[in-house]
Amino acid sequence: MEEVRFCAWCGKIVNLKFHYCPWCGKNLFKREEPGVTVNKIVNKMSRLQTNDKLATLEKMENQLGDLEDEISAIIDEQVAKN
Ligand SMILES: [Zn+2]
Repeated sequence: MEEVRFCAWCGKIVNLKFHYCPWCGKNLFKREEPGVTVNKIVNKMSRLQTNDKLATLEKMENQLGDLEDEISAIIDEQVAKN
């Protein structure tokens, strides 16, 4: 009798000698495929980049708000002079 195990990925019966599942093609010895890990890192990085962009936008918005305050202060000054 052949020794078998269940694929952790697709749940099908796989010969114990196999390193890769013949059904889904995944590595039976690794819990996570390198591709999955890389994707996770890439996702994390793009999320971080998005956060950076949002932070930059927020900063710009604040700076614009400050500028607006300064401009209206100057205008007020000019109006007060005239
Ligand atoms: Zn499988």
